[in-house]
Amino acid sequence: MRRRSTTPTTVTRRPHTETTRAADISDKTCASCGRRIEWRRKWAANWDDVRYCSDACRRRGVTAADGQLEADILARLATTRSVTVDETEDARRAARRLVAKGDVELVQSGRVVDPSTAKGPFQIRRI
Ligand SMILES: [Zn+2]
Repeated sequence: MRRRSTTPTTVTRRPHTETTRAADISDKTCASCGRRIEWRRKWAANWDDVRYCSDACRRRGVTAADGQLEADILARLATTRSVTVDETEDARRAARRLVAKGDVELVQSGRVVDPSTAKGPFQIRRI
């Protein structure tokens, strides 16, 4: 006679609840480009360790020059509430990383925009 085991040998690892997952997702941004990292099933087991949104960002990381771009923006924000971010991709990445760290937000035409999806020139301002 076969009995159903109460401890199956294969268990699909999943977050316990949707709310836990949503909370994890909400504050997860790429350490390199500063964009939101979309949760993927393959990361279920090591979501806490995921730092980059892509292989390209993992390879790129954050360089000393990137850190300097962030410092430059913060220095400009020390004397005024809002500054226009250079339209280079490196400057935009720096601005997004600063948003992820808190204290600043991105603005277009006076409205706060999502750093992950904003297109075109934007300003960064202290909250
Ligand atoms: Zn990225």
